[in-house]
Amino acid sequence: MTGKYLMVGAGLSGAVIGRHLAEAGHAVTVVDSRDHIGGNCHTARDEKTGVMLHVYGPHIFHTDDTEVWDYVNRFEEFLPYKNRVKTTSRDPGGAHGVFSLPINLHTINQFFGKTLRPDEARAFITEEQADTSIEDPQTFEEQAMRFVGKDLYEAFFKGYTIKQWGMHPSELPASILKRLPVRFNYDDNYFFHKFQGMPKNGYSSMIDSILDHPGITVQLSTRFTRAMGEEYDHVFYSGPLDGYFDFELGRLGYRTLDFERFDYSGDYQGCAVMNYGEEEVPYTRITEHKHFSPWEEHEESVCYREFSRAADAGDIPYYPIRQVKEKELLSAYVTLAENAAGVTFVGRLGTYRYLDMDVTIREALDTARGFVSKLANGEDMPAFFVAPL
Ligand code: FAD
Ligand code: UDP
Repeated sequence: MTGKYLMVGAGLSGAVIGRHLAEAGHAVTVVDSRDHIGGNCHTARDEKTGVMLHVYGPHIFHTDDTEVWDYVNRFEEFLPYKNRVKTTSRDPGGAHGVFSLPINLHTINQFFGKTLRPDEARAFITEEQADTSIEDPQTFEEQAMRFVGKDLYEAFFKGYTIKQWGMHPSELPASILKRLPVRFNYDDNYFFHKFQGMPKNGYSSMIDSILDHPGITVQLSTRFTRAMGEEYDHVFYSGPLDGYFDFELGRLGYRTLDFERFDYSGDYQGCAVMNYGEEEVPYTRITEHKHFSPWEEHEESVCYREFSRAADAGDIPYYPIRQVKEKELLSAYVTLAENAAGVTFVGRLGTYRYLDMDVTIREALDTARGFVSKLANGEDMPAFFVAPL
């Protein structure tokens, strides 16, 4: 028996679930309130310069998940890309410098003016820099003090994190910093996943191919209403969880980003991403988009200065805050969701979690398969295939 299903959101979640259901013979409609597909991964070629822009901020694909890597390569050609991030900050003497991230042997030697070998650097950081009195770090600040010590923490993490999250690192969980490794060799690859790359024609081209199936209809500039859902057998909702309920219990907190574009003739900064560690510099980073496509040649360059602030109603939600207060509200929304019929909440906004693209695709595939199998067994559909809490 075939059904009629609505995907709210033409980002990765909506596209991947929609494709799976369409391939299983169902009729799928995908709506998005924006006038383009791709969600926050959207890429577009700049009319003025021809540079491929990462419109909602830099996106680099990295994964250890072979099935997900095969999946993305089925829909788009991926070219090799290593994320090598630099950061501008001050060394312990107060002099400005450009340093390599994540913290590696080059960073340590340059920052402290030393010529240490790997074992010496490890001993120097763990015995002379790290605060070993912190046994079980709970906060971001404790985690940083415990593993890299005060000097590196203050130069690279403290100011950046205050700008990024609008909170002191002592109020944030250690888990945020755990995403960043410290290396005692010269490996400056930001990620350590087995598969890494960049889609040759951009993420929107890949998502366009995923949506390109006779069973899928896409309607852009179309805002979902709950009444719309009644025409379908089931809705997969990848918009904000609180938005589905018209924010009736209040708004889940998000950080939003403002991008200030400037153009440059030539090479502005020599790399794709330059972070700024100092709190006095108002932006967190500058991205120079042509360096995301190193196989292309462009004389003209487009750069974004990136500013982070608390999201107001009407702003694009980027990073879920997920502090104690937000988790309480989230828990109340989860209860509402579990009592709502005919809808499953998916993706980064539907489950109010930070999700990398590969995790988004993995969860979308698992959700679609779970749905098809429950359908075959005549079972009820859950509000969440992946729990938000
Ligand atoms: P989204 O992409 O947000 O798609 C949801 C869609 O739903 C949107 O298009 C929205 O317009 C639409 N929508 C919402 N409400 C409604 C409504 N009521 N009616 C109709 N449509 C609606 N991941 C990586 O792997 N590597 C990276 O380098 C990386 N960089 C990132 C950088 C930033 C700044 C951010 C914020 C995220 C980054 N990510 C990265 C994560 C990546 O963006 C997500 O994994 C991905 O966007 C999740 O896809 P999604 O479909 O769940 O959500
Ligand atoms: N971070 C930092 N300095 C940097 C880069 C990152 O302090 O130069 C912190 C910041 O709090 C950020 C976290 O480390 O939120 C995780 O970094 P990541 O690069 O994963 O950030 P995201 O992809 O979430 O922007």
